[in-house]
Amino acid sequence: MDKRLQLIKELTELHGVSGFEEEVKYYIKERMEKLTEISYDNLGSIICKKQGTDENPKIMLPGHMDEIGFLVNAITKEGYLKFIPLGGWWDQVLLAHRVIVKTSKGNIPGIIGSTPPHLLDAKEREKVIEKKTMFIDVGAESKEEAMEKFGIRPGDVIVPESNFALMHNPKYVMAKALDDRLGVALFMEVIEELAKIQHPNTVYGVGTVQEEVGLRGAQTSTDLIKPDLTFVLDVGIAGDTPGLENLHIDVKLGKGPLVLLADASMIPNRSLRDFVIDTANSLGIPLQFATMMGGGTDGGAIHKYGSGVPSVAFGIPTRYIHSHTSTFHRDDYENLLKLLVEMIKKLDASTVDLIKK
Ligand SMILES: [Zn+2]
Repeated sequence: MDKRLQLIKELTELHGVSGFEEEVKYYIKERMEKLTEISYDNLGSIICKKQGTDENPKIMLPGHMDEIGFLVNAITKEGYLKFIPLGGWWDQVLLAHRVIVKTSKGNIPGIIGSTPPHLLDAKEREKVIEKKTMFIDVGAESKEEAMEKFGIRPGDVIVPESNFALMHNPKYVMAKALDDRLGVALFMEVIEELAKIQHPNTVYGVGTVQEEVGLRGAQTSTDLIKPDLTFVLDVGIAGDTPGLENLHIDVKLGKGPLVLLADASMIPNRSLRDFVIDTANSLGIPLQFATMMGGGTDGGAIHKYGSGVPSVAFGIPTRYIHSHTSTFHRDDYENLLKLLVEMIKKLDASTVDLIKK
C-alpha cells in the first residue's frame, strides 16, 4: 500500500465520534508538528498553521475530524445497551452491524440488535425498525456485569466497526468515516506539498470538531484564525448508483472533485467559485457540480464569521456516506489535492482583495 492509502487507512480506522475526536487530533498533531505551528480551540479543534512568504492572506482549509456514531444512554437490567445517535443515522443501515463501545476499561465489541423478523407478525415485518427500539448486545448477562466487569457507563461513546479495504479495482477505496477523514487527509497532504515550495500566504489546516452535530468546531476555530478565505474539504453525494437516473445528479465517482453550487448552509462566493473553475480548467483538472439543499458543511459556520469570509465547499464524490462503509475513487482525491496546491500558489494579497470585492 502506498503512503497516501496508508494515511487514509490510518485516519479512517481511528475512532472519533462527534465530541470524542481526541484520537484523530493526536494523530494529526504527531504528523504535522514538524511542519506547522499547532494550536487548539477550546472545543478541541486542531489548527495547523503553515506560513509561506507572507503572513496574509490567511487561507483556511477545514476538514472535520468527527464521524457519526452513538452514545450509551441506558443499560437494561438484562445487560443490553440503549443508545442515541450522534449525527445523522438512517435506521435502515444499522441492524446487525458491529460496533465498539469505548469505555474507561477499554474497547468492548457489540452488535446492533432488534426483535428477530421471525417473531414479528406480517404487518410489523413490512415496517422499518426504528433505532429507538434497537439495542446493542455486548454479551453481558446483566446490567451489573455490563457496568462493573465491562466498565460500560451511560455517556460512553459507540463507534461503528469497519475496516479499510480496496475494491477489486484498487482506485475504489472502502472505509468508514470517509466523511470526513478524507478532508483531514487532504489538508495534511496540502501542507506537506506546501512545505516543499513557496506560497504567498499563510495556510491553516484545521481538524474541526462536532461538524455532524452542528458545525460547532468550525465556528470556534474560525474565531481564532480570522481567515480571509476558506476552501471547505468534505465529501459529496455521488449520483451514480441504480435508481437515481431521474434525479439528474450528475456526480460520478472518478470524474472529478465536486464543487457545491449551493447547499442548505451556504451559497459560495461567486468570484472565488469562478477562480476555482478557471484554475481547474487551466490545469485540465475535471470538476463536477452539485447542489445539496438537504445538508450543509463547515462552510455554513465559517462564511458568516465577522463581516463574512469568501468560501467554497468541495466534496470528494462518495457513495453510502453515513453508514458503516462508504466508497470513493482516488483520482478525485488526487485531483482535488493538486487543484488546492495550485490555487494556494496563486492566492496572494492582491488576488484575494479582488475576490473580496
Ligand atoms: Zn462531512
